[in-house]
Amino acid sequence: MLFANRWRLLVGFLLPLLGLFACSPGSGPAHEAPLHPALASPFQGEFQVSNVNDHEYPFQFKDSNGYLLSWWGERLPGVDGHQGYDFPMPEGTPLLAVYDGEVTFAGWENPFYCPPLGTTVSGLVVVLRHHLPNGEVFLSIYAHLSEVRVKAGDQVRTGQVLGLSGNTGCSTGPHLHFEMRRRKGTEWPVFDPYGWSSEGEDPWSKHPSGVSSVWLWMEGKAPPLFSEVSLPPNPKPTDRAPLAITRVRYMGVSDATNPNNEFVEITADPRFASTPVSLKGFLLKNKLGEAFAFPDIALEPGASIRVYSGQGSPTGETLFWGRTQPAWDNWGDCAQLVYPSGAPYLLGYRSGCASVQGLGVLLKEEAGVLQDAHNLPLP
Ligand SMILES: [Zn+2]
Repeated sequence: MLFANRWRLLVGFLLPLLGLFACSPGSGPAHEAPLHPALASPFQGEFQVSNVNDHEYPFQFKDSNGYLLSWWGERLPGVDGHQGYDFPMPEGTPLLAVYDGEVTFAGWENPFYCPPLGTTVSGLVVVLRHHLPNGEVFLSIYAHLSEVRVKAGDQVRTGQVLGLSGNTGCSTGPHLHFEMRRRKGTEWPVFDPYGWSSEGEDPWSKHPSGVSSVWLWMEGKAPPLFSEVSLPPNPKPTDRAPLAITRVRYMGVSDATNPNNEFVEITADPRFASTPVSLKGFLLKNKLGEAFAFPDIALEPGASIRVYSGQGSPTGETLFWGRTQPAWDNWGDCAQLVYPSGAPYLLGYRSGCASVQGLGVLLKEEAGVLQDAHNLPLP
């Protein structure tokens, strides 16, 4: 009887809701079939991301709150109000259709003034229109290409090469600018194919001009999102360090709660390490002075080992700091491999090593900040 009562309660609760949906005017989402993951990656392999889709207010040159609000709710540095994702990559990387569709534009966008370059420019752009199985219409946009291999009116299939990546238009470095739009009446608001997974409602979906975002990547097809700085060991002719920091991955999705989405890579440079190098007595420090002490293991010449920030079981190629919080500041940090002698080998980003001085500073590296803008030819 208890069950029957509950069932009656449930039906009594649901029926008015169904009636509400049936009577609601317009073409709200209540009438639409759900969206299912359908997209493939716009490129092969992995490239870091330098600007994410700003969920707080995706209007470039109008937003000025000083950060990008990522789909997992973290405030990140980058081009304020950025629409879509910037993936720095070598010029000439093949760019692929994320879904079956029609080419609505392929060629040079109309020239416009580019603030970061201080001049008027035009870039090569491809725009695809996609009809998803639920009846909704989306655009996918690929910008700053060096070469276009499709033309307006072409039908393309998922994975088809649309052109090659480049650095045309308003761009301060070779990269793919990838963004999507979701049709809303006669408008094409910015849509994030990674969806929104943070607490509370997506600010962009609440905006009068906004639209809600949904995870649309097929399983295993979403481009991974991370930011890192990497260099070969001892890049300067005067450097002679047997052990060097060769990579700092400082931003990964939700690294505030998944600190193993970031790591530091240490490499034994075979030019200066002819025998296995003992890690005993070495420390890894961040700009706050927090330190990880290496265990008593040895690294073969030419070999690398990664120190993940979170917890885990060490292997021959991975160590774990054991933290529950990230170690590396997305807004700038200075990774320091401190030798038993006290001399640090540095790899910094975003001026993170600016305050570190003195003898033993073997390297200072500051990553450039990528900027871009567009004059997109939407249908
Ligand atoms: Zn961009």
